Amino acid sequence: MDLSGRHILITGGGSGIGAALADRFAKENPRGITVVDLVGADETAARVGGLALDADVSKESEVVRVIAEATRHYGPVDVYFSNAGIPRPLGGAEVSDDGWQRHWDTHVMSHVWATRALLPGMISRGSGYLVNTASAAGLLMSPGASPYTVTKHAAVALAESFAVMYSHTGIRFSCLCPGLVETPLVSDVDNEATGRAIRMTSQPMDPATVADIAVRGLIEERFLIMTHGKETSSAAQLRASDPETYVSAMQDLWRTAQASS
Ligand code: NAD
Repeated sequence: MDLSGRHILITGGGSGIGAALADRFAKENPRGITVVDLVGADETAARVGGLALDADVSKESEVVRVIAEATRHYGPVDVYFSNAGIPRPLGGAEVSDDGWQRHWDTHVMSHVWATRALLPGMISRGSGYLVNTASAAGLLMSPGASPYTVTKHAAVALAESFAVMYSHTGIRFSCLCPGLVETPLVSDVDNEATGRAIRMTSQPMDPATVADIAVRGLIEERFLIMTHGKETSSAAQLRASDPETYVSAMQDLWRTAQASS
């Protein structure tokens, strides 16, 4: 999409990938950039000459409020980027309902609420783009981070489902699925088995930088390389062609990651 003259709103823009994307968007001569975050929006907005809004996008009222405030400032939102994300709590069935709900609201419902608020206006103007940052963990399992990987799978399905349902309107939907990127989100995960498992699946490639994501978009296959026996193959291919081997390779990897605690 040609971004010149457009109003772009990005959530989670105070840090990491969102901040790098805002910097990149600023080079495309947009009409305005609205940066939304719990903390840190001011710094990015000052750098890109945009509008900073502090908000918690895991609440519908806050999503509706930032869209209204951003629209008053720069006019209708043309591109909405749901990028805010949380890695914790890690774990599985023992994670509290509240922990599961927070992942669901942050990674899935925030994008549903934004779509609900923006779609009618976008359809009447004949253009619009809704993007969410999912993850390679939305394409493959991320052992030990069940709420994260489950809701990131849902984020991918959401983009696909809306892209199909609303294709006749001309409004575009997509999602970004980065592999491991060095940001504050993953800075301390190495201390736990989940983080080590993620590092292991990233071998033999180095983690991406936020600049890689901002410039090249989807970093395919970075997180998806697994070594099984003598063969190194893409986990995505393995999952499709040989699901049993895929699951057993993930189990081996998870056991090794836990054993190194
Ligand atoms: P980050 O921690 O640097 O940035 C995430 C930002 O989201 C933070 O500034 C945080 O304050 C904000 N945020 C969290 N919950 C929020 C809420 N309820 N309301 C408003 N803002 C909120 O992390 P990042 O790595 O830049 O993550 C950006 C996105 O990329 C996330 O959705 C993450 O899941 C996804 N992602 C990250 C990686 C990685 O390896 N870093 C890989 C794949 C996907």
